[in-house]
Amino acid sequence: MTTALEFTQQLSEHPKSAEERAAILANPGFGNHFTDHTVVVDYKVDVDGNGGWSNARLEPYGPIMLDPSAAVLHYGQEIFEGMKAYKHADGTVWTFRPEENAKRMNLSARRLALPELPEETFLESLRRLVAVDKEWVPTGEGDALYLRPFMIATEAFLGVRPAREVSFRVIASPAGNYFGGELQPVSIWLSENYARAGRGGTGEAKCGGNYAASLAPQLEAEAQGCKQVLFLDPFNDNAVEELGGMNIFFVFADGRLVTPELNGNILRGVTRSSVIQLAKDRGLDVQERKITIDEWRAGVESGEITEVFACGTAAVITPIGELKTQHGSIASPGSGAGEVSMSIRKQLLGIQTGTVEDTYGWMTRLA
Ligand SMILES: *Cc1c(COP(=O)(O)O)cnc(C)c1O
Repeated sequence: MTTALEFTQQLSEHPKSAEERAAILANPGFGNHFTDHTVVVDYKVDVDGNGGWSNARLEPYGPIMLDPSAAVLHYGQEIFEGMKAYKHADGTVWTFRPEENAKRMNLSARRLALPELPEETFLESLRRLVAVDKEWVPTGEGDALYLRPFMIATEAFLGVRPAREVSFRVIASPAGNYFGGELQPVSIWLSENYARAGRGGTGEAKCGGNYAASLAPQLEAEAQGCKQVLFLDPFNDNAVEELGGMNIFFVFADGRLVTPELNGNILRGVTRSSVIQLAKDRGLDVQERKITIDEWRAGVESGEITEVFACGTAAVITPIGELKTQHGSIASPGSGAGEVSMSIRKQLLGIQTGTVEDTYGWMTRLA
């Protein structure tokens, strides 16, 4: 049993003006602008080797003072989370299954040899930040306040071992549609030169290193006119794993919904597990299993696979219109925006934005 830390609070003396904020909220984009405050919690291991969290605080948003030898800058000891806060019609602010993110961050922490943060402190951090920056939650269609909790190794030390000083932080950024503009099917590029994760690696952890490794293939994708990269496991019959930052689903004509199983290489998406639940409850036969690129190609050719979509917090559910590869492409039937994908998307987004009843108890009020 851990008791939640006491938070102190220092409000910004120079918050953005209401006009500036309104201009940002009218056209937020993704990840370009940040709210007036941030949450910080410090972790330290003492001389006896006992670690503990302390000094939980809300403070003005601003640059971090870090020693140039801080471990995170050299060895990438870093993890993060991503979630969204939505303003409902009555002005209250809610987020989606945050306890799942708290648990997953601790999973990532174990893999990256970072300290686990009490779930209650994680949740309180979100509440604290949103309480003071509530006016930053955009209300446009599909808009939300993106919350980015993260943990970094701050200890000034170049030796290679888990850092004894760490900080947990939360920043928030008003966000519009992740891919910009109207929802339309995206083209994705099949990465054949690079893998995202290997057995025993960090594929299941939400860490910056995985994203750094996805940038070179992402450049390839962009050169091919694609928005995202799909990764395979080349040592497992080219089994489909996931995109750089989203899980993947296949809708079959006979009512099956197939997604790669959690095999230690892929991220345990909160959206993924929610889609699985919603699909089961509407009678779809959900299968978490291996699906290879050959099955994908054959399934589209035979008409068995009718829709393919990607899912994650940032983009919710995005239809995949086409998979481009070095040896031709696999186009989804009907150009991509399938009925099942869009219907699940509507239900999920409805729960998140408060227009569909939350019968699952997935929403947590933040402010
Ligand atoms: C964050 C992330 C996802 C999606 O997870 P959600 O919890 O649904 O946002 C999928 N894949 C990777 C690699 C990720 O980092």
